[in-house]
Amino acid sequence: MGDGEKETITISSCPVCSEGHEYSVIVTRSTSIGLISLDFGQSKQQPRKKRVTRLFTCPTRNENFQVTLTFLEYPSSPINSIEVEK
Ligand SMILES: [Zn+2]
Repeated sequence: MGDGEKETITISSCPVCSEGHEYSVIVTRSTSIGLISLDFGQSKQQPRKKRVTRLFTCPTRNENFQVTLTFLEYPSSPINSIEVEK
């Protein structure tokens, strides 16, 4: 692993302490090299919205809380995993 792209998630109001926190999330997508699309006339890929719920830890009180994140997912590079960086 370790080849995912890092995205920064900003929690503006933490449900535990109501402060703002920043987290890094590693998004790993599978890249299908050599994909041939035979959908003529439908060359535009429509991204889907992928919703995932992950546990984040409040650094102030050291308590966990759940956040539902929404990522855009393209058919040619589906999201494999989404991990919160510790
Ligand atoms: Zn907090």
